[in-house]
Amino acid sequence: MVQKRDYYEVLGVSRNAAKDEIKKAYRKLAMKYHPDTNKEDPKQAEEKFKELSEAYEVLADDDKKTRYDQYGHEGVQSTFRDGGFDWSDFTHFGDISDIFGNFSGFGGSIFDQFFGGGMRRTGPVEGRSLRYDIDIPLEEAATGIEKEIRVPHSIACKTCGGIGAKKEDVKTCPTCKGAGQVQRAQKRGNTSFVTIANCPTCRGRGNQITKNCPDCQGHGAVQTTSTLKVSIPKGAEEGMRLRIRGAGEAGPNGGPPGDLYIIIHIDEHSVFARDGRDLWLETPITFTQAALGAQIDVPTLNGTARVTVPPGTQTGTVFRLKGKGVPDLRGYGEGDEFVKVTVQIPTKLSSEQKDLMKRLGDSLGDYGRGGTKKNRFSKFGRKT
Ligand SMILES: [Zn+2]
Ligand SMILES: [Zn+2]
Repeated sequence: MVQKRDYYEVLGVSRNAAKDEIKKAYRKLAMKYHPDTNKEDPKQAEEKFKELSEAYEVLADDDKKTRYDQYGHEGVQSTFRDGGFDWSDFTHFGDISDIFGNFSGFGGSIFDQFFGGGMRRTGPVEGRSLRYDIDIPLEEAATGIEKEIRVPHSIACKTCGGIGAKKEDVKTCPTCKGAGQVQRAQKRGNTSFVTIANCPTCRGRGNQITKNCPDCQGHGAVQTTSTLKVSIPKGAEEGMRLRIRGAGEAGPNGGPPGDLYIIIHIDEHSVFARDGRDLWLETPITFTQAALGAQIDVPTLNGTARVTVPPGTQTGTVFRLKGKGVPDLRGYGEGDEFVKVTVQIPTKLSSEQKDLMKRLGDSLGDYGRGGTKKNRFSKFGRKT
């Protein structure tokens, strides 16, 4: 690993520089070393730019700055991978739009380059993706359903095709004759050389808009609300993500639109707990139903089902209704419904009932009480 320069030295500020001062220094140097404005040696400019960005990321962050002041590069090393610099790292800078957005010489163009996927010039850029959260009841998740949703987003302006002006209002840039770049003769000492930079008139686009598109005022995109049909598959699960290509935001400068991601949320059900494809529910039965056996009706996702409770059923017994669960998302059959019964002990007894109960007790004696045992966890004890 190459010896790193001191971050304060990189930014050319003193150790007690205020935050503002650090930001200002970064802004100035970022412009100077931006690889796009250093066509004669973009490789070296990029190196400089990386060093600069790394220094700024540390010194602009109170926490990292403290660690750096205390321990030097060691203290902040984990933040940076050796060599693998990624332009997407720039999203870490919360104030980058602030930095570049205010810089009048370049306006937003340099800012666009960052977020348009690296060092690309201002050109068509893919639009942002959008997220839409949708809540559905369990019943709809089980059967699958088609939903209509309304999504507010931007779409490319139809009048100008997202360019921001009608064809006849786009003229070749007079400064660079459409090349997007200009050469400048410079003299340093005795040597004169030529630098190539982005054209200041058109910011590298090669053309100029003489009149903004009347329908989008030059933005290239217009706001709208689209109504979309979404097919939620049967067996849909909580947190599932559906992607609708091209339904996100319009792409800047005529670029392709981003995607729309629909995140499915399934409402908590009043009766059922879901465990993958299986459903669980708890139902009370009476003391006598448990002792003598009974037929009970329990709710299912699409109606009711009859469960035969055999005589002598204990509280906590689980019955399985095969195939009454949620269909498998990949089409592998259906899950099951599990019914856990809890035996209700009567709490309000008339004196006549008490008398009957006593006689029953006397008659049973210790019958059915079983021996005292160690407590065991029920196999099905998880969903109660
Ligand atoms: Zn130009
Ligand atoms: Zn337009």
